[in-house]
Amino acid sequence: MSEQKPEYNVTGQDYTDRRHFRYSGPPLIDIHSHVTMTAPSDGSTGAAGGSGREGSTEQAEVMLSEAREFGIARTVTMCPVQDIAPLREKFGDALVFNGMINKKKIDDSDDEAYKSLDAFLAEGIKILKLWSAPRGRERGLVVNAPWRIESIKRAIAAGVQVVMVHVGDPDNWWNTVYKETAKFGTKADQYLPFREMLERFPEVTWIGAHMGGNPEHPDELQRLLEDYPHLCLDTSATKWQVREISRHPEAIRNLITKFPDRFMFGSDLVTRYGLHKEHYTSRYWCQRTLFESHWSGTSPIADGDYVAAAGEPALPALRGIELPEEVLLKVYRLNALRILG
Ligand SMILES: [Zn+2]
Repeated sequence: MSEQKPEYNVTGQDYTDRRHFRYSGPPLIDIHSHVTMTAPSDGSTGAAGGSGREGSTEQAEVMLSEAREFGIARTVTMCPVQDIAPLREKFGDALVFNGMINKKKIDDSDDEAYKSLDAFLAEGIKILKLWSAPRGRERGLVVNAPWRIESIKRAIAAGVQVVMVHVGDPDNWWNTVYKETAKFGTKADQYLPFREMLERFPEVTWIGAHMGGNPEHPDELQRLLEDYPHLCLDTSATKWQVREISRHPEAIRNLITKFPDRFMFGSDLVTRYGLHKEHYTSRYWCQRTLFESHWSGTSPIADGDYVAAAGEPALPALRGIELPEEVLLKVYRLNALRILG
């Protein structure tokens, strides 16, 4: 009988082995995470946090202390608005806040969304997040919904200069969750309203979360970056990036090196009640291994989305792309510093 291996380490990787790390510059900034207050009622997936002052900062402490172990001094978090004050009191400048405005149902009033926006603005968010994954369509969460256009205008008037967007999802989800393209659209369809918004608001910096939702296609990302100089991409969603970047490491290395000012380090780590410390460790270790080393082996993170193509190994690979030092400094730190102001 084989022992169940934890999702954060299916290969028995020694995460204290960091001899392959090359970066030795000033501290990193994680531009994309979900550090929240936590409580026993937290779900194991989906939206996180929201327990506010009733909740605990224990998981946030675990995560941020692991972050420091990997040289990360500041973390930008998306958390429910009631979590901001207790987190800020506890962690001060180590956290920066990104406000995600959503609707729970398609017929929720626009005013509800604006109220949520106002609450985030009152807490001094630096970034506005528009989560626009295809599975949000039923709730009207398309990126160019009129209430989102209005929200951006109001956020800009209040001094926000950065908008983060989640469009797209892994290619292979269109064989599973998004099979019904009449309902969800094709993957390419997701980028039309995104382009419209990039054109409508050239005065803000846009961040395409999770490598613009398209690490499968560096050529398409290059077109977006060429078309929109005010667009940046973050490297978050670690197992997705590990899986796809390792499939074409040269192409991604060339892309980042061609546009070194346009990529930002991000983990997409989410705090949840009861998570093991090594869950956080695994994502930081894999991100740094991927971008700064030539480490090559089996990815230590369990990946249910990996389907081995012909000639591929049974488990996904992690192949480091060893970015040049001056590019790493930008991706790890300077680009985020620039846009956060
Ligand atoms: Zn996220």
